[in-house]
Amino acid sequence: MFGLMMDTPLLISSIMRHAEKLYGDTEIVSITHDHPRHRYNYQDAFQRVRRLANVFKQLDITFGDVIGTLAWNDFRHFEIYYATACSGVVCHTVNPRLFAEQIRYIVNHAEDKWLFTDPLFVPLLEELQAQLPHIKGYVILSDEEHMPTSTLPNVHCYESLLQQQSEEFDWPEFDERTASALCYTSGTTGNPKGVVYNHRATLLHSYALVMPNALNLSSRDCLLSVVPMFHVNAWGTPYAAPMVGTKIVLPGPRMADGQTLTDLMNEEQVNVSAGVPTIWQALLNYLRESGRTLDTLKRVIVGGAACPLSIMETFEQHGVYVHAAWGMTEMSPLGSINTMDQDPCELPRSVYNELRLKAGRAVFGVDMKIVSDDDQELPWDGKAFGTLKVRGPWITNRYFKHDASALDDNGWFDTGDVATISADGYMQITDRAKDVIKSGGEWISSIDLENAATGHPKVAQAAVIGVPHPKWTERPLLIIVKKDTTLSKEEILAWLDGKVAKWWIPEDAVFVESLPITATGKISKKDLRDQFEDYPK
Ligand code: AMP
Repeated sequence: MFGLMMDTPLLISSIMRHAEKLYGDTEIVSITHDHPRHRYNYQDAFQRVRRLANVFKQLDITFGDVIGTLAWNDFRHFEIYYATACSGVVCHTVNPRLFAEQIRYIVNHAEDKWLFTDPLFVPLLEELQAQLPHIKGYVILSDEEHMPTSTLPNVHCYESLLQQQSEEFDWPEFDERTASALCYTSGTTGNPKGVVYNHRATLLHSYALVMPNALNLSSRDCLLSVVPMFHVNAWGTPYAAPMVGTKIVLPGPRMADGQTLTDLMNEEQVNVSAGVPTIWQALLNYLRESGRTLDTLKRVIVGGAACPLSIMETFEQHGVYVHAAWGMTEMSPLGSINTMDQDPCELPRSVYNELRLKAGRAVFGVDMKIVSDDDQELPWDGKAFGTLKVRGPWITNRYFKHDASALDDNGWFDTGDVATISADGYMQITDRAKDVIKSGGEWISSIDLENAATGHPKVAQAAVIGVPHPKWTERPLLIIVKKDTTLSKEEILAWLDGKVAKWWIPEDAVFVESLPITATGKISKKDLRDQFEDYPK
């Protein structure tokens, strides 16, 4: 027997309708190349989204087409998210930090029909355009006054196109499994792989994201999204925030600029923010150097990579609580978040620190398990570590244009991460499977070592990679960016004593000016391994 409930499809247009009706005057604030501080509200935004849907008709962009964006976090990118999805068009967010060759590959692989681009990326596109056979034209995200000169064919100005169109548009209703967005993983080997999101997954993920045991968003919050809209849909925040009427602040091209982030946070009364650890490091460095404070910020969600304890502790001095979160492109991306039920005052500091460093518990909707090399499920005892597998309604089952399923025979997705899970469900990533260091047959967690090293007051950043060793097969090598030039190798190695197992302590530490960063803002272990390929020769 079936239940007797309405079969309303879960469509992204329902978020738009809801936000417009209930939270119409909630603000969206952005920085763009043509506005130092652009400000409007959800009602204005969604009126323009309807104009944009009419622009799509004019440009012959129709249901099922894919269009690409090369854009920062701002109000125009937000409008494109909604105008595409709500009219059944797929928004392919291209990461402009990828190599030109990768951009060429993914734009062609996705068969993007039009590209909507920030003026900053026009020179890059001019270089590539002869090799982009599917592109029918380019829309520059600008007003007429700030349009760049360009040799691109069939170029249009975004604001002029919008001005010419009507504010009336009837949003179509269609199958909730219809594709809404496309994002390529910046894999370190082989070509990038496309993850195709759909309406149903996006809506369910948004419900999960706003829950108290997740991002805990509401109409009382102001969110600064420092996670790029070109990578995993800014962790789904542009969909989740309007669902509950959260004010949105978007930093445009100034994402990595500590001063801009501080100005935005303090002047817009931001109380919650999200981003990868490297962004926070930049902000905290700026605060230290400038002596400024964070007046309203209360919590920060840190994901994409393990968050060092030093970042958590420095934020704490500013009265900001850090939530570690874990996820991936293939998971829309939220998998787990550490919301900590325990009262820190009741725990010894070391226990509290150990707990808050974990990636947290799975959000409802994500099923997790850890397995051994022969796919046997391992216990949740906080000690056994193995490959982390997941399943759930916002997790991909097949990469774009791949014939084979991305799942194992039992329908689980292998995340490529290695983790432990404690009896009460707290998951901790010990390493990316590719980065695991195996020494004398035992695993060493590079994340734990990095964490211990960054706790030293003279260390700005630390990374650990495995290097070949004649006796132990592999040993860890500690790579440090100094905060204080007086730091010596002996000092940092001695610091680790007592903080990690004795046999984990590297024999050597090397100092570098900076660490290589991937297109998604993480420390690139692959580039470090290449850089130290000949170590210790
Ligand atoms: P991406 O698909 O680019 O978002 O990268 C996803 C990967 O980032 C995951 O598979 C993890 O290896 C890593 N990652 C994300 N969050 C965390 C975290 N909290 N701790 C450690 N690694 C993380």
